[in-house]
Amino acid sequence: MTPTLPITALVLFSGGQDSGTCLAYALDRYDRVETIGFFYGQRHAVELECRVPLRDGIVRLRSWRGQLGADHMLDIAPALAVIGTTAMTADIAITMTEAGLPSTFVPGRNLLFLTYAAALAYRRGISALVGGMCETDYSGYPDCRSDTMAAMQLALGLGLDRSIMIDTPLMYRDKAATWRLAEALGGGDLVEMLRVKSHSCYKGVRSVLHDWGYGCGDCPACGLRASGWQRYRDTPPRMDIL
Ligand code: ZN
Repeated sequence: MTPTLPITALVLFSGGQDSGTCLAYALDRYDRVETIGFFYGQRHAVELECRVPLRDGIVRLRSWRGQLGADHMLDIAPALAVIGTTAMTADIAITMTEAGLPSTFVPGRNLLFLTYAAALAYRRGISALVGGMCETDYSGYPDCRSDTMAAMQLALGLGLDRSIMIDTPLMYRDKAATWRLAEALGGGDLVEMLRVKSHSCYKGVRSVLHDWGYGCGDCPACGLRASGWQRYRDTPPRMDIL
């Protein structure tokens, strides 16, 4: 059991495996937790439909219920629609671009999310943001890098004239390690909750339940999730995970 920090955290919570694990991590670590989600014109609303059941399910698993506060949803789709479409927000094929990035890349998306989250956190007296950004299998997204997060934390702290911490527990964990973290935080019940109730598939498929959860089985998000699950199942449990 990690010592609880006497501060409130705002978790960037999309309803996916990573942000679901981050929510459990924050509930385990912080005194009080709120959540924020963004509608940015996702191709499928499935992920957002998974948010509330997953949030409710996670908080019921442990004695976490008293720590969980408000959920906030921000609609930033109109602004992103003006900036341009990507495979994440429009019905076009998911391919690699000339820049070596998947066509799902929304330029600066995490920077926008963190700025909105920090503004809300400021208003609500919250001093930590928790996000599932990950450098290990980050598909090349430059706004997931640890250096980007460090720079963003500095910029937000200066711009708000208030200390704000960006806590990224998955930064150096691959998908298998993320499953192991979930197991350490909430046991098999949390793993099963995330497997069945979280959503990662870019194509929004929830009609087929695989070993690793629902999805189409062939988009990049399903590929990452499936291979991570397999490696998690193939490796013995570790006790030093937290
Ligand atoms: Zn998929």
